[in-house]
Amino acid sequence: DGRTIPVGRRPAAVPFAEVVPDIPSRSLDGTFDYAIPPELEGECVVGATVLVPFSHRKAVGYVVGVGERPQEGLAPHRILPVERVLAGPAFDQVAARVARWIAREYACPLSEALHPFLAPGQTVRVRRDGPDGPWTLVCEKSGPVDERWVSLAEGASGFVPRANASRQRQVLEALQAGPARMAELAATLPGCASAVSSLRERGVVRVEERRRVRGVEETTLSSAVAQRPSRLTRGQEEALAAIARACDAGRGDVVLVDGVTGSGKTEVYLSAIERELARGRGALVLVPEISLTAQTVGRFRSRFGDDVAILHSRLSAGERFDQWDMVRQGRAHVVVGARSALFAPLSNVGVVIIDEEHEASYKQGSAPRYHAREVAARLARERGCALVLGSATPSLESLERCHEGSWGGASWTRVSMPERPGGAVLPSVQVVDMTQQFGSGRRSVFSRPLEDALLEVMGRGEKAVLMLNRRGFANFLMCRECGAVPECPHCSTSLTYHERTHSLVCHSCGRSWPVRAWPDPSTRCPNCGSRYLGAYGVGTQRVEDELRALLPPDVEVIRMDADTTRGKGDHQRLLERFDGAERAVLVGTQMIAKGLDFPEVTLVGVINADTTLKLPDFRAAERTYDLLEQVSGRAGRGERAGRVIVQTYWASHPAIQAVASHRRDVFLSPELADRREGDYPPFSRLCNVVLWGRDALAVRRSCDAVAARLRERLDGVRGWEVLGPADCLKARVKDRTRRHVLVKAPVGSEPGELLSACVTEADVRRGVSVAIDVDAYDL
Ligand code: ADP
Ligand code: ZN
Ligand code: ZN
Repeated sequence: DGRTIPVGRRPAAVPFAEVVPDIPSRSLDGTFDYAIPPELEGECVVGATVLVPFSHRKAVGYVVGVGERPQEGLAPHRILPVERVLAGPAFDQVAARVARWIAREYACPLSEALHPFLAPGQTVRVRRDGPDGPWTLVCEKSGPVDERWVSLAEGASGFVPRANASRQRQVLEALQAGPARMAELAATLPGCASAVSSLRERGVVRVEERRRVRGVEETTLSSAVAQRPSRLTRGQEEALAAIARACDAGRGDVVLVDGVTGSGKTEVYLSAIERELARGRGALVLVPEISLTAQTVGRFRSRFGDDVAILHSRLSAGERFDQWDMVRQGRAHVVVGARSALFAPLSNVGVVIIDEEHEASYKQGSAPRYHAREVAARLARERGCALVLGSATPSLESLERCHEGSWGGASWTRVSMPERPGGAVLPSVQVVDMTQQFGSGRRSVFSRPLEDALLEVMGRGEKAVLMLNRRGFANFLMCRECGAVPECPHCSTSLTYHERTHSLVCHSCGRSWPVRAWPDPSTRCPNCGSRYLGAYGVGTQRVEDELRALLPPDVEVIRMDADTTRGKGDHQRLLERFDGAERAVLVGTQMIAKGLDFPEVTLVGVINADTTLKLPDFRAAERTYDLLEQVSGRAGRGERAGRVIVQTYWASHPAIQAVASHRRDVFLSPELADRREGDYPPFSRLCNVVLWGRDALAVRRSCDAVAARLRERLDGVRGWEVLGPADCLKARVKDRTRRHVLVKAPVGSEPGELLSACVTEADVRRGVSVAIDVDAYDL
């Protein structure tokens, strides 16, 4: 099979291995050569995990290259041998190149950049008990599991058990239906083991070990089946043609499928994958973790069956290993997963697909702090395949690159799919100005129009979705009458309120203002003079309670938030309840905005649209726009038209207006102008250097030192700017003080190495940790 990863194939004589020791240290970066002893030849290949001697100790390391000669300047006889091979190959030469790029680009050690490529659930460390004690390996492995299967042997039909052998008869009856797991047989027929073994001795049944594959999800949702449409829309045809061209060009060309919600992007992905499979190549499909529900998974499975492997964080370690191993063995050629699916051991890739490419969750928050879109673009170039990005609200970065037409040596093409198939229309959007509602003295979380619409829709026996926008809320002071939130005059980011110091703080430049008065009721809004200022917050529980009071008792009210989805499968169960209900309202946080496809939903309500507008983040408006557009897209996906009601204190904001008019440009033009003006992405690369530790003073001094070093290097250099130091938005986490410095770098620069160098050169105190975040998201 041409699609399997070449495991253990090697050229004739390969006596040296280039190894990356896994030693957590920022200063140690690089690879080391080791001799491959004859007995390990063939096993010690690229991608293998090995045990090597390393400066008077032993270390676990990863083989990133093999060759006939060691690196320059080393006499072959001085080179130490690899001691053991601990695990088989997890990545190939191309993946190793991508890892090197990640290490450079995101300023992390190569060993850290290799971690995502390793087999899931298999970590090996070395430990020494005492200074002279023996070295021991600590393995946390969840490797493959074999299980015993029992089946009828050929020619078994003639066998009749003796009258007193009732267990044997029961076993044979059970096996009439097909082979069974030994464990299952034993559960239903206790003590059947001896019956099985005597049947086996007589040649009536066969017992064999089979590799067990864990982690296959099942669902009863009807929408989880991808019906093959009788014909594609024009937009879908155009998108597929562009993708085919990109696949055939074989140089990492990118196609941005810019399709409104419900325009059939998933069908485009499925068709593109089918084409690649027919040509003997596989596919990597990334979806946001949160929309990786059985619904999404089911669509891929219904088209490709067992050729699909699923990788996401809700699987157990064993399940993840099995799914990963299926890919490595070449038994699954389509990988569907969260961002880590990028690192699956699929070497013959025809297309990489990122659904909802604008999602912030594609940026990893811990080391290596990569962005899946950027790694995918690199991977697609290295593998000579295509990259498909899909979204109803593409990121400004991707739109800008398509506007340029090419980026990083590949072409970027945007294909728009402005229509829903089958004549379904986009929902009508009504914006409700909550400041007016407040004037009329309403205390409900629902405005009059939303309340009326809910009653109407339930009266017709349809379904509704209500979203509560909850991110980063209570830390703001907001005027209940005009919705104003105080902003920093220097950075135009929203100021956050700090209870402890009674101050308003800017998290970009570090300036702060005392709010002596708050929560003294004499404080007035700087914008309109109103006295009704306060931290304003509503929980999903409150919305649920009000709904139950409002609606007839037989309407199902289903709440979906962090509290109700703790357990494995909770998410799925709630969706199935919603799917099965006669008439129902689904209330939830952001997690309900994405990917749900329920044709009976005709009303979508947004309780508070503007909370994300007030985040001290230059992407606040973009995130709000994305979220509102996504959640609106849940309405009217079937035959009946949909309706969206957006409650807001900031009705005039371009992000809200754009959603209301279905015209992205209303938001995009002023937003791009602001970003250009302020040198924010996509017109710069924003990097965040974060320092934290228990000793607040040490953190402060170290952060000052890093900022000073950065300024020495960068002041006056065109296109670079250093901001801060300032407290992080979360200034204290787990008793650690957190400060940061922001650096804006020009597009096309490679800031990783420079930032690393500055951090290394600065006087960072003991006990203070540093993280360098290139292309930062959460500031
Ligand atoms: P998106 O991912 O763009 O939001 P989906 O892929 O979920 O949209 O498609 C929305 C609905 O339209 C799905 O129920 C899908 O089965 C259906 N659909 C997709 N393509 C077609 C088509 N060409 N003809 C008819 N229905 C289609
Ligand atoms: Zn006001
Ligand atoms: Zn500021």
